[in-house]
Amino acid sequence: MEVVFSDGTHEQYEDVPFSEGAQGAIFRSRDRKHVVKLFKAPPNMPPAAVARMVQDRNRQIDAIIGKYNVVGNDPYWEALFAWPLKRAVQPRPGVSSRYVEGMTRLDNYFFGSSYSRLTPEQKGWWIGRLACAIKMARAVARLSTLGLCHSDLSEKNVFVDPLSGTATILDCDSLVIPNEMPAEVLGTPEYMAPELQSGKVREPSVVTDRHALAVLLYRWLLFQHPLLGPKRHSTNAELDDNLALGANALYIEHPTDTSNRPKHLQVTAETLSPRVRDLFRRVFVEGLHNPALRPTADLWEEALSEMMDRVVPCGNPLCEQKFFVAPDVPPMSCPLCKTRFTAFPQLPYLKLRAPRPTRTGGYEYVDENASFQGTPYNRYIVGYPGRPIYNWHVHPNVSLRVGQSGARTDSHNRGVIRYDTNRSEWFLENIALPDLQARVGGADPASGGWSPVPLGSRVALRPNTQLLLGQLNLDRIAYVEMKAV
Ligand SMILES: [Zn+2]
Repeated sequence: MEVVFSDGTHEQYEDVPFSEGAQGAIFRSRDRKHVVKLFKAPPNMPPAAVARMVQDRNRQIDAIIGKYNVVGNDPYWEALFAWPLKRAVQPRPGVSSRYVEGMTRLDNYFFGSSYSRLTPEQKGWWIGRLACAIKMARAVARLSTLGLCHSDLSEKNVFVDPLSGTATILDCDSLVIPNEMPAEVLGTPEYMAPELQSGKVREPSVVTDRHALAVLLYRWLLFQHPLLGPKRHSTNAELDDNLALGANALYIEHPTDTSNRPKHLQVTAETLSPRVRDLFRRVFVEGLHNPALRPTADLWEEALSEMMDRVVPCGNPLCEQKFFVAPDVPPMSCPLCKTRFTAFPQLPYLKLRAPRPTRTGGYEYVDENASFQGTPYNRYIVGYPGRPIYNWHVHPNVSLRVGQSGARTDSHNRGVIRYDTNRSEWFLENIALPDLQARVGGADPASGGWSPVPLGSRVALRPNTQLLLGQLNLDRIAYVEMKAV
């Protein structure tokens, strides 16, 4: 069939839809590059109401393609979204977007029967899962820069490839634009914020998106729903679900109320970095019934990106996930297959600290992300052969988040951690850290004792080694701790 768009262009689409939902049917273009969703009116809707609905939707789609387009022509953001491209006018009102290929819908990973049918490539590995998670957070953060809410972030609207670590958000044609476009959908129950589920709030918003994102991330990284535990709230199954996700919602890992904790909960948020664990606590404990306390998507993006510096391979060749997060405190073993880590007797942990001016006119080196209780999070780069050091590790003013243009400020390796098997010693190779200096011990960085580590040379990572990664009082210091695993 021929589809005519509001800009006057025509494209050829298949006659039979490849998927059909409540809102309409989705057809693939003959060149397989695009899909078009052609809307259908709800049955029995009076013609005047249909006309109004079409008009509202047209306005919404034009706004999403135009004024509220978070993708632009940037290939980076284009990959993160299947953003609406053109508004269809014939044969029916609708909207086109790119056809997402080579990726798997997220719900396939959440149910045993569909998961078992995935190929090893589709299953990917945990390091790729983390990369996908970073991209989900980044996409939601991107939407919130324009105040947009997706309104239906769920397992059916996210496609992933956990082998290469890519994720794409779909169904962006029903975005909620505050004060302009009301919501058409409330969301998918398992991802709906408690206040939406209970009916206390009637419209999805940026803060309900924050809840949905956190549920997606928890299920994706920890393999279970964060609120669906053994606790029962009613003998009526439907009411029970509604209460468990709504008015009575309770985090399965609540630190003091363990009444919803599954008996054999093996992979918990404790196996992630302390900062990510605390974000889950904030969103599912403090922020669960208090939406204003929910962490924003950019905090997730940052904390998950930092966690990447701690991921190490599992020694078990049969391990399904193949990677895990190195904990602050050994013993180190894979939380999934329980295999002890034995590849090296000890690993260097590089604790990053940034300079902060003191009242007396000097500088102290502090943990930038100390938790709200003031406990340091210990932002570690856990040494592993090939572990890169980037500019955003060196300079506190360089963000590891992706900038507006979709480009990272700098993603070239500045240094790389390696292991010398002959000497049984860890070292950092200086690739492009022109100011790198090292010393052993010493409290006040300004007291000196630093020796330059020239470009192209290497410095041994030993207990109490300090590495001044850039300039004194401007850039970070890495404090080396050797941890027996
Ligand atoms: Zn394992």
